[in-house]
Amino acid sequence: MSLIVTGSVGIDTVETPDGRRADEVLGGSSIYFAAGASYFTSVRLVAAVGDDFPDHLAQKFDHFDVCTHGLEKRAGSKTFRWHGRYHENMNDRDTLQVDLNVLGEALPPVPESYRDSKYIFLANTHPAGQLALLDQFPDRKLVVADTMDLWIETERDLLLQLLQRVDGFVLNDSEAKMLTEENNVVRAADKVLAMGPTFVVVKKGEHGAILRHRDGTGALPAFPATQVVDPTGAGDSFASGMMGYLCEQDDVSVGAIKRAMAYGTVVASYTIEKFSTDRLAEIDRSHIDARLAEFTGHLHIGG
Ligand code: AMP
Repeated sequence: MSLIVTGSVGIDTVETPDGRRADEVLGGSSIYFAAGASYFTSVRLVAAVGDDFPDHLAQKFDHFDVCTHGLEKRAGSKTFRWHGRYHENMNDRDTLQVDLNVLGEALPPVPESYRDSKYIFLANTHPAGQLALLDQFPDRKLVVADTMDLWIETERDLLLQLLQRVDGFVLNDSEAKMLTEENNVVRAADKVLAMGPTFVVVKKGEHGAILRHRDGTGALPAFPATQVVDPTGAGDSFASGMMGYLCEQDDVSVGAIKRAMAYGTVVASYTIEKFSTDRLAEIDRSHIDARLAEFTGHLHIGG
């Protein structure tokens, strides 16, 4: 089975409260997603960067086994840029600057060789781009989308259209509250369900994630991490392990989604150990499986 993703590809600058910072590093929702999911299945990327996108960042991505035929370097456009600063708790963050640039333009064409994709992930990007990709895959088996506060604030109507057309939606707790104006995360998830999808996953950073599915509920803690260098991309990495596993197993049942969330938790736990995709580039599938076994042990509460 093949997994296709669209989302941002960006140049990030990240500041953390211990005084560390990473300037102009590889980032973007679809980059973290594709990198993590490549450990489970073949991943196809549809996204655009500008002609200012530096070769040394593109080369960083060469490491991952991802098809980039659908990644367009657009002449005359500029690459998406994001600058964020984390709070002391390493969970909340402020966006200091965001330049949408090419993210505000049309999605590149989908290569013919991607047409048989059955699993679709619409990573955080302009909802117009998410809808444009979705429109091209009427025979899909599963489509899941993510979003972010900026799009909830600026493109609410398009997001509501998107919600009516996806099977699953992943978002973090503050985004769920913002979208639904409901403070209780579980009730917020139910309000999102009422907007259209079959299941909703609400990510709660170091407090794990909950699943509300029309056929059941799940809850998982985060992997207990002692070394959090940079949480950027944790949400996209969570989605990568989740979607990668579902695609690999070709199973979209509630049970499979719960197991998939455990894989998502583990992939995210690696991402946060270094800036950008640096830690993801050091691991292989055996690291993911070993940490999953450790995590499963943590979850065992039988007598
Ligand atoms: P996450 O930490 O999982 O929310 O993802 C962080 C990544 O999202 C960063 O690498 C940013 O480049 C990217 N990003 C930040 N703001 C946006 C936005 N409004 N739309 C799309 N991607 C974004």
